[in-house]
Parts: sequence; C-alpha cells; structure tokens
Amino acid sequence: MKIMAINAGSSSLKFQLLEMPSEALILSGIIERIGFKDSIFTIKYSDIKDKQTLSIPNHGVAVELLLKKIVDTKVINSLDEIAGVGHRVVHGAELFKDSIIINDDVIKKIESVSELAPLHNPANLTGIHAFSKALPKAKGVAVFDTAFHQTMGQTEFMYSVPYEWYTKYGVRKYGFHGTSHKYVSLRAADMLGKKVEDTKVIVCHIGNGASLCAVKGGKSIDTSMGFTPLSGIAMGTRSGDIDPAIVQYISQKENETLDQVIDDLNKRSGYLGLSGFSSDSRDLWEAVAKGDKRSILAVEKQAKMIADYIGAYYLTLEGCDAICFTAGIGENASETRTLVADKIKILGVILDEEANEIKGKETVISTKESKITVLSIPTNEEVMIARDTLRLI
Ligand code: ADP
Repeated sequence: MKIMAINAGSSSLKFQLLEMPSEALILSGIIERIGFKDSIFTIKYSDIKDKQTLSIPNHGVAVELLLKKIVDTKVINSLDEIAGVGHRVVHGAELFKDSIIINDDVIKKIESVSELAPLHNPANLTGIHAFSKALPKAKGVAVFDTAFHQTMGQTEFMYSVPYEWYTKYGVRKYGFHGTSHKYVSLRAADMLGKKVEDTKVIVCHIGNGASLCAVKGGKSIDTSMGFTPLSGIAMGTRSGDIDPAIVQYISQKENETLDQVIDDLNKRSGYLGLSGFSSDSRDLWEAVAKGDKRSILAVEKQAKMIADYIGAYYLTLEGCDAICFTAGIGENASETRTLVADKIKILGVILDEEANEIKGKETVISTKESKITVLSIPTNEEVMIARDTLRLI
C-alpha cells in the first residue's frame, strides 16, 4: 500500500511517498516559493533528482503538478494506488490526543484552534484541501505536532498564572515536535534493546527550531516548548526562555509594539541575536574556530540551556537510560554534543570521541563506561506520519 506524507507550509509543500508497511521510500521532494513566479519544484526518485523553476500560484496547482509528475515518473502505475495521505498539522490543542482520519468535523476543529498557530494551521489546511480535491478516493489523516505531549500531567502543562487564562483562553504548555520526539524515543528503545514501556529517555531535537522532551515508557512527561514554540532552549532565531518583563521594557525603550518585540524574540534572537550574523550552526562553528567571541557565546548559551533541561528532566524521570540527539544540529554538530556532554558530566556521561564524529547516522556516541547511553538518531517525521496513516485507514 502506498501512502503520502505531507508537510504543507505557507509557501512550501514537502512530500514523501512511502511503500507501507515496509516503510521503503519511493520518492520525495519539496515545492518551494508557492505563490511566486519562480517556484522551485524538486523531486527525487530512484537515483534521479529533478529540479525545475516554474510559476506555481497556489497549493492546489502544486498538488496537481506533483500528482502528474508522480504518474510521469512511472514509480507507480496509477494514482489509485495511493491509499492514504498523512498531513502534518502543527496545532491540535487539547482537541486531538492522537492522529485522526480527516472529515468535515476534524477540519472545523483544526480551524477552531488556528488562532494558536496562525502561521501553521491555515497552511496545513491548504494542503489537506488540495489533496482531498485531487485524490478524493485516498483517505486523509491529520498527524499533530502537539498530540504526543497530551500525556503531560497538569503540574507540567499548567503555567502559574491566573487559572482563568487556561479555562477562558487555553493558555497552557502544549509542546511541539511531538512526531519527532515519538519517533526518536521508539528508535532509542530499539537501540537499547528494551521494550519502550521500560525506557526513560531524554530527546534533544536540536534543529533551527529546538525542543527537549522527557519520555517515560514511550509517553511525553514534559517538554521545553510551551504555549508557542518560543520557549525552552535558545534556537536559530528564537530566544527560548526569558523573563517576560523584558517584553514590556524593550517595547518602551525601542518604541516597538508588543507584536514587534515578540517578533524580535522569534526572528532576531537565539544564534542570530547573540552572534549578530547568522542563525546557522555551521556558520557559527566556522566563526568559533576563528575565535569569534559572540559566536562562542551563542553556542555556549545554547549548550548551557540544553544541559539545564537535561538536568531537570533527569530529576523528572528519576533517572535516564538514554539521551538522544536529533535534527540538523543534534544529528550533525558533534561540537554541540561535546559542549553539552561536558556540562552534564556530573551525571556520569562520557562521550566516545570517535563515534561522536559520525554524522547523520544512528550511532551510540557514549563509551561503555558512560552511566547514561548517548545516541545520535536521525529523525524521520514522515515515517511516523505514514505509520499513523496506515494504522488509521
Ligand atoms: P528545521 O527543520 O528546524 O528548519 P533542521 O533540523 O534542518 O532545522 O536544522 C537546521 C540546523 O542544522 C542549521 O543550524 C544547520 O546549520 C544545522 N546543520 C545541518 N547540517 C549540519 C552539519 N553537518 N554540521 C553542523 N550543523 C549542521
């Protein structure tokens, strides 16, 4: 059975076509700059990579082009072979504790929580509408970034603010990257040779966006992102945790609206804010090698925040079998993993320097003597989306 995994953004559409249940990748790609005259359509299949620049005015046209291309590549005989389409949806609030087959009621509910993710949920919905029109026979499934964290207890998900903010407006910690945290915690159990029910792991998803998750017995117990993806550790351009009083203070000093200050915290902070020149970890490590003080501060600050959360989650979980690094930086930046490991050595963590140099591949990067196993695990959100789609259809 063939299943599409879709991640629709406001101007992009990432796709993978998978054979299920074997999880073999048939084709993958991305359509970028949708709505511009020079949209970019990249598709990879067999050993071929095809990249075209053309005008794609909206997501509906993008999906039509994609389906036509899939038929042209002859990787499948007919579009009828695609039995299901799994869609990443960023915010499911408290309405969705698991993935779900899409129907009109589900669409209404996703729309009803769009206020909590105004940049993401409407974009995810454009993908859902485009596929239900183009592939009416295939069942659609929504897979939420927030669903995995719905197992958090009240003490973890509530903020200590007026209680009515929660009852009236849904102000609480939701957490994000759930699909990735779930996938990585399952892989970690496999690598540890244990049943997932018997594991306690801390997942560090460190990409441009970044969050940590304490996972006990395969369930999210706590996570570092909150009401929005702004909280937690320092990221590419996001500040992570700060004193909220700074928002009002800077708004007065810089004569900015509250929206502008929040925008600064989302887009001009983190690596970019501290280094003053880049949000990309590769650029920063190049500058660190040349002794650039602000880049050193940026990578040190992020590593310190990661280490602090690991310490907190070690207590929450009452121990830990594995610390897992994933996503762009987690999987590749051995320098960041070294910095973090040094800051948590009191927990008995010892990295294997040679194994730590291996990039982008499932690897045990701690020594045999290390009290906690440290793993580098490439995330695969698309496989998780395809698995949930298969399970539900
Ligand atoms: P997102 O999906 O949140 O946009 P990614 O998971 O793709 O982000 O991660 C992007 C980050 O990963 C960037 O900071 C990039 O520099 C970093 N990265 C990717 N490859 C490497 C590498 N080989 N070494 C160091 N950092 C890397």
